[in-house]
Amino acid sequence: MLVDYHMHLERGGLTREYLLRFVEVARQRGVDEIGITEHAYNFVEAAPLLGQPWYIERYSSGFRMDDYIALLEAARADGLPVKIGIEMDYVPGREEEIGRFLAAYPFDFVIGSVHWIDDWGFDLDPATWQGRDVQEAYRRYFELAERAIRSGLFDVFGHPDVIKVFGYRLPPENRNELEEYLARLARAAAETGTCLEISSAGRRKPVGEFYPDPHLLAEARRLGVPVTLASDAHDPEHVGWAYPDLVRFARENGYDTVTVFEGRRGRQVPLG
Ligand code: FE
Ligand code: FE
Ligand code: ZN
Repeated sequence: MLVDYHMHLERGGLTREYLLRFVEVARQRGVDEIGITEHAYNFVEAAPLLGQPWYIERYSSGFRMDDYIALLEAARADGLPVKIGIEMDYVPGREEEIGRFLAAYPFDFVIGSVHWIDDWGFDLDPATWQGRDVQEAYRRYFELAERAIRSGLFDVFGHPDVIKVFGYRLPPENRNELEEYLARLARAAAETGTCLEISSAGRRKPVGEFYPDPHLLAEARRLGVPVTLASDAHDPEHVGWAYPDLVRFARENGYDTVTVFEGRRGRQVPLG
């Protein structure tokens, strides 16, 4: 079985017509089931949780959760292979509010992500990396990522090493440091029963490689951590993007099952 459990409707809106384009590309690429995971900050009910007012004002789509859920429930009722998800930013200190929001809707699964280090949205614009201390950025990112996983709020941790998105990396002599961060994420995922996401999105970004680093997958595999597969499509054409390679990547790192979610419970099914 192939799933693509990470995609966004934000560019086309919450319409049946636009959703069907994602379903259609999935069908063409042999993806059996898709999970729609709009960014929480696009919804009026959840945007305040992010706590980045300038960003929300500029980017929030002003979607309403009821419209979103109704659209996806109707699709499911008609037999379309669609699951109801959301991509929620982890905001340290906001765990209770986030938990309350997530409990209020009938999600099949929830992706937690870290896109912000304090008020720096580090994956928005490569120019904001100019003059940054890369080592410090990595240290802070992985600290937040581990906290996000350990919060227990999420079913899946999205693009686990997205801090590499623009190709800024720790120098090779700091490989041990990176591997320690990655091992900690694997441990956190194992101890909280959180899935890790294997995503083709990094291939479309300056870093030019999948998320996460194979070292994280190897550790995760060793500890029995389950995975999901994802494209992080922001456009129907990206559904199932680079999947033959992505599936090979998962297999090379020891995975022969993927997680299928329903009502926030996951089960393992054979991959491919
Ligand atoms: Fe994301
Ligand atoms: Fe995303
Ligand atoms: Zn996105």
